Formats: sequence, C-alpha cells, structure tokens
Amino acid sequence: MKTHVRVLVIGGGVVGVSTLYHLTKKGWADVALIERTELTAGSTWHAAGLLPLFNMNYTVGQLHKYSVDLYKRLPAETGQDVSFHVTGNLRLATCRERMDEYQKYCGTANTIGVPFEVIGPARVKELWPLIELGGSADTPAIIGALYHPHDGHIAPADLTMALRKGARNAGAEIYEHTEALAFERVASGEWRVRTGKGDIRAEHLVLATGNYARQTGRLLGLNVPAIPVEHQYIVYDESAELKAYRQGGGRELAVMREPDKSYYLREERMGWILGPYERGAPARFADGVPDWFGRSLFPGDLDRLVPHVEAATRRVPALEHCGIKDIVNGPIPYAPDGSPLIGPAWGLRNVWINEGHSFGITAAGGAGWQLAEWIVEGEPGIDMLGVDPRRFGAYTSKRYLVQKNEETYRNVFTLHFPDEERPDARPAKTSPVYDRLDASGAVWGQRYGWERANWFAPPGVERRDRWSFRRSNYFEHVGNEARLTRERVAVIDLTPFTKHEVTGPKAEAWLDGLVANKVPSKTGRLALCHALTRRGGIRSEFTITKIDAGHYYVVSAGAAERYDSDYLFKSLPADGLVTLRNITNTRGCFVLAGPRSREVLAQLTDTPLDNASFPWLTAQVIEAGLAVDVYALRVNFVGALGWELHFPIEYAHHLFDALFAAGKAHGIGMVGMRAMESLRLEKSYRMWGSDMTPDYTPFEASLDRFVRMNKGYFIGREALEKQLAAGVPNRFVTLEVHGVTDADPLGNEPLFEPGGRMIGRATSGYYGHCLRKSLAIGYARAEYAQPGTQLTIEILGERKQATVLRESPYDPDNLDLRT
Ligand SMILES: Cc1cc2nc3c(=O)[nH]c(=O)nc-3n(C[C@H](O)[C@H](O)[C@H](O)COP(=O)(O)OP(=O)(O)OC[C@H]3O[C@@H](n4cnc5c(N)ncnc54)[C@H](O)[C@@H]3O)c2cc1C
Repeated sequence: MKTHVRVLVIGGGVVGVSTLYHLTKKGWADVALIERTELTAGSTWHAAGLLPLFNMNYTVGQLHKYSVDLYKRLPAETGQDVSFHVTGNLRLATCRERMDEYQKYCGTANTIGVPFEVIGPARVKELWPLIELGGSADTPAIIGALYHPHDGHIAPADLTMALRKGARNAGAEIYEHTEALAFERVASGEWRVRTGKGDIRAEHLVLATGNYARQTGRLLGLNVPAIPVEHQYIVYDESAELKAYRQGGGRELAVMREPDKSYYLREERMGWILGPYERGAPARFADGVPDWFGRSLFPGDLDRLVPHVEAATRRVPALEHCGIKDIVNGPIPYAPDGSPLIGPAWGLRNVWINEGHSFGITAAGGAGWQLAEWIVEGEPGIDMLGVDPRRFGAYTSKRYLVQKNEETYRNVFTLHFPDEERPDARPAKTSPVYDRLDASGAVWGQRYGWERANWFAPPGVERRDRWSFRRSNYFEHVGNEARLTRERVAVIDLTPFTKHEVTGPKAEAWLDGLVANKVPSKTGRLALCHALTRRGGIRSEFTITKIDAGHYYVVSAGAAERYDSDYLFKSLPADGLVTLRNITNTRGCFVLAGPRSREVLAQLTDTPLDNASFPWLTAQVIEAGLAVDVYALRVNFVGALGWELHFPIEYAHHLFDALFAAGKAHGIGMVGMRAMESLRLEKSYRMWGSDMTPDYTPFEASLDRFVRMNKGYFIGREALEKQLAAGVPNRFVTLEVHGVTDADPLGNEPLFEPGGRMIGRATSGYYGHCLRKSLAIGYARAEYAQPGTQLTIEILGERKQATVLRESPYDPDNLDLRT
C-alpha cells in the first residue's frame, strides 16, 4: 500500500470510484481509494440502475447529462460492459399541473441541451403497448407524457468496475478492506489518514462514504447534512404478457414513471422492477451505520408498498399475473433538498465532499467529473451552486435532517411547483419579529433554515398559498405590497442577510484583492462588490461599507452564509493583520423603503437625512429611537428611496414598533419576498445564485461599472482581460414578455432569435406589478442584447414575443433613489 498520495478517496461506491477515475482523466495518477469492505458494498450494489435525465435543478441536470454520455462511452474505453439499456424514459401525466411541470422542465432541458419529447396519449400507447390509458377515478386518464429517448438503465456494479478499470489503467490504486479510522492534519498541511492497514498521507481527501457520510464527517469535526432513508423496490417473476410482447418483436419498454402515483416500473429479465417513493419511509442511521449492517438490507415493508402496487397493476394489468420474487429495501443517502453535496468542505483545507447522493448511479459520472476539475484546477467548470455542500449551514441538526430527508423522499414524485414551500422541520430559525409579522398575516416561506414572509394576507384573506406554475391566489396581494413600496413606505425584514465584520490595518487591501470593484476608502462610503472565480465568473456579491478606519461591514445573501464565510475565512492572510468575524446572528436588518421613508426615519433619529447630509450610496452609524449603533445604509434591493437599517439584534422589537408607530400616518406596511422579487426585476437588479453565478463574468452580467480593471490585482482579473480581448460572448438582458395571460417567466426559460435559434436563457422572471409588465432577466448572445431587439421566450411550452428593454425599466435614471 502506498503511504503517500496526492488525493485519497474514502469510499468505494460508484461515486468514489468515479471521482478516482476522473482525477486520472485530469492527469493526476498519484491517487488512491480506500474501501472499508469491498467496492460497491454500500448502496451501489442494490441500486435499481435507473438513469433519469429528468431533473429540475440546473446543475444536477448537467451532471446527469454528462453521466449518461460517459456511460455510453465507457465500455469501448475500458473493455468492461456496463449493461446500459438505452430504453428511454417515459413520465406520465394525468393532470394539467403535471404537464406544466414537464413544460417548465423543458425550459431547463433546452438550456442545457438534453433532448426530450412531449407526447400525447396515442404515442404513449405506441411506445408502451402494455399500458392502460385509463379514464376512471382510480386510474386517471393519461393526458400526455415526457419522453427522454436517450437514457435507460445500467448495471451499477458493472459501471463501478468499468470506472475502476479506467482509473487503474491510468495508474490509480484501490485498496479494499481498508477503513479510514481517523484523520489528522500534519505540519506540512497534508492529511494523515489512519487506516486498519497503516497510515496514508494525502494532499487532498475526498469523502465519498455514502450512508457513512455523517460518521466520516464527524471524524473531521464536520456535520455533513446527509442521512439515508429506506428505499424499496419489488422484483417480479417473469410476465407472460411481457414475454409474448418481446418474443413478438417488441423492443424493451422504456422505464415508465407514473409520478401522480409515485412509482416507477422497468423491465428485468422478462419480469419487472417496481419502485415506489412511499409515504412513511423512515430515515436510518442518524447516529451512524451500526457494525452489523454491512452489505445487508432491511426487511421489506409491504404495507408501504401496497398502494403503489395497486396503482401500477391498474395501469399495467400484466403485473397482476406476476409473482413477487424479491423485495429490496436498502438505505439511500439523502440531503435535505434531495440534491447531492459536491464540493469543498467548509472550514477545512483540501477536504472535498461527494456525499448525499440519492440518484448516485445517475449522478456519479458528473459528480466525479466536476469534483476532479475542482480539485485539480481549483474551480469547477460549471456552476455548481446547486450542489455545493455549503448551501446548508450549521442549522442542519440531526432532527432537522431526519424530518427534511423523510419529507424530501416522500415528495420525489409529487409536483414541484416553483412557489412550493415544504412544511416539515419548521419554523426553525426565526427573526426576533417573527411573531409580529405572523400577527400581520405573514404567509411563510423558508430559505437556509430561516422563516421569511413571502407575502401578507390582508384580514379576511386565506393565509395560504395555492402553489402553481401560473399566477395564483396571492398575485393581487403581492401587487398591493409592491405598489405600497413605490407609493408610500414599506418595511421588509431582511434579518437573514449574511454579515461579516472585517477589521485591522490590512482590511481594505485584503478586501480589495478579493473583489472586482474598488473597496471604499472613505468612511461612510459603500460599494457593491463582486468576488470572482479565477475564470472570471461571479462567485459572490458583497455590499461593503466602510464603518471606520480599518473597519468594514460586509453584507451578502442570506443563503450564502456558509458559502461566503468559508471563502472569506480561507482567503485570510496568514500575517494576522486582518480579523474577520461572522456577525450574521448579532445584527438584524429592516429595509425601510418608499417615498415616505425619509419622513418616517426622521422621527426616530436626529441624524439629518437630506440628500446633502446623507446621500444615496452612503452609510452612517446612527441612533434610531432608543437603539444605538444602527448602521444605516442608503441602498436597497427594491429601487426606492430608503435605508437598510442594520441594528444590534436586541433592538429588533423596539425598532420595529418604533418604525410602525412613526409610519402609521404615512400608511406604512409590511412587504414580503414576492413583492421584493417583482420590484427588483423592475429595476433589473441581479440576484446572487440565479442571475449572478460562476457561469457568467461581470461583463456578461453587464456589471461593467462595478469592475475596476485599472485598480491593480484582484482574483479573476486575468480572465476578464482575456475575455475583453476576445470579445464578451453574452450580455445581460431585461425583457418585456408580451401576450402573457397567466404564466409569467420564472427563470430557466430558453430565449430564441426570430429565426428560432436558441441564443440565451432567462435566469429570473416575474410580473412587474407597478409597470404592469411581465418581465424576465437573463443572458443573450451579445448581438441580441441591444434594447429594442425582438426575441421569443418559451414559457410552459408556449413561445412568447419578448422585447429587450433598456436596463431598469422602472426609473432608469434612479431618480427615486436620489430624491
Ligand atoms: C433500493 C435502492 C434503489 C436505488 N436505485 C437507484 C437508481 O435506480 N438510480 C440511481 O441513480 N440511484 C439509485 N439508488 C441510489 C444509489 O444506490 C446511491 O445513490 C449510490 O449507490 C450512492 O453511491 P455512493 O458511492 O455515494 O455510496 P455507497 O455505494 O454507499 O458507497 C460508499 C462506500 O464507502 C465505504 N466507506 C464508508 N466509510 C468508509 C471509511 N471510513 N473508510 C473506507 N470506506 C468507507 C462504504 O463501505 C461504501 O462502500 C438506489 C438506492 C437504493 C437503496
């Protein structure tokens, strides 16, 4: 066994072996993998081997696409067959919302280049002759389906062996029956891994331990947010009907899913495999996998299976005549949102996570591909925000994970509405004024563990969302909140913002090297600053305020707390001349916005608020009511006159009550996240994570005014220089979408030029309630980004005319902000 390697992968399931394989593809041959028992002994050996290309997540969709393409190439490359049956995948729809979901997905599929067909019932019957099209109460009529012709199913163990062969051929080593027992960081910065067979030192560690993720993490002091859930499938005996169909020349049937009944069905040796996503499937191993588990399975739970078996038998009557050969019930790794955890571990250098895979056979190829790129090149090649392990924070307690993972599991096949807010494990993190907002009719959503008011139901209006792909019950009320902000004065509770304090003699120089804009050097100035990747993509957005000499206040998106904090801490200089503190939970934030905001705030403070004394884009430390040390920032995300008040958290109740008392005469009201979405789109404000991602540079995002190419070094500068020399390929666009009746764009819709060629994608969209326009923002090839250009956008399967508008269609000259 080697005692020193560049990368040591822990765990020999399909995900670990794929990571090893891809490291060798990137040219790193001095790599090894250790497996506590035998390769595939975890969840991989008993997986059903389905490879669905369907995924609503932009990142995961790309990983799955890569995998499917790779698995087709692997046998020729390695000489190892993987039993890839390219049967296609058929997802049935029995209600209009399901068709809406497929149409919404088609937008994503188009933008990432996954081929699909939306088909009608007759074509379903043609593809799947043994199906009943239905039409009764318990077997509803199939109204259409989504068909992926290029995916299917594979033999997971064979796939793993092919990846193993490829990795070994390139020099990687694999040690079975070798368990990682302890990790220690040595003086050189490398990791020493104690195994049952001696120590191995490695520059990098990759954790790919599947159901063991939490216990592996614990050895490193990490609370990895992954706990497995039970997942079962039934293996049926031969089916006479299926046999007759195949012997009559019928091709292997596509993998069929009936999401409205929460099961899938695929052929297996002239019989079937039926897999449900049941209600009541329990999370397992929350405290670790017990020693006795090994390669074993759980006993089958027939009660949970019965409703799905009945539904499937009504849909495919041939099942009725088949005996059950086996029930497989195994642990399936899960993370709270159902997407895997791929990327750096927080707080530790050179530790990489590839865990929480619930579709790990499908994702393994892509997950290995991007993680290897990240390790070798320092950055992934695609936007990985959707799977970055740091999208979760410290709030993922054991009970949170158990509840959320069980909820996510049972909802695999339910309709995924864009405005869906799942109820379990809530409320968990709340702002101090939660009860006051609740009493004002808040209809709650959740992000990064925080409760956030999406909108406020006026008295007499039902406090509930009717989730939809189209305009829904809250549309009118969100509109009223947006107009209140433009016409009077609104309060938005943005306490969840991520907040850091940077102090020390080198604070300014250090921050300046991290971001593309010039960090303010005058006290009381603030600037919008973007931290870039080395490839020039946008990794984070910070509002940086100079509070005092050597003292900066750095604010970023609430959901980016761990992501940003980890980046900032890991970037700190070693000389100790900069001190960084994450103060997210010590300050609250209320946005006070609207034409009357100055009059309201003036009642609470003696600080002059006129334009000369307190101009736009400046900040002051003020007293407000009885509260001291309030950072008042004259900026906001809704494009109105106003202030963000960042206050010591203990003043939350007082300040809230004082603002409402002062604002009463001015018609002050609460505004939620959905109105904020409408307002920010009217101003073309980009949102981190959707409109600003590592896929686009600030030039592509048309944020040129926030980039100072002449200020000296900053991360990403070289890449920007190259892009400027070569020409900026895409530009940010704001679009007015015409002819919308009830389905506004929401992001991930493809954009087409008049000839029908796809030339970009929308990254966000909403109805602009004050402008009374359906709006989208996103990216188009640079030659199509001029105001006035006519494009089309596809929304839920319909092409709509769209006109490129001048940026910031509401108040383009920012007169409201400067007023
Ligand atoms: C019934 C069932 C059906 C499924 N069907 C599908 C499907 O059709 N399609 C699909 O995409 N996915 C499916 N899955 C999910 C799939 O099985 C998993 O996503 C996938 O196997 C995860 O692979 P992995 O490599 O992450 O984990 P694993 O395969 O569990 O591998 C982790 C490995 O790490 C090893 N290990 C742990 N700790 C240590 C240590 N300290 N030192 C050394 N080694 C260690 C373990 O022994 C194990 O071999 C199914 C799962 C179940 C339960």
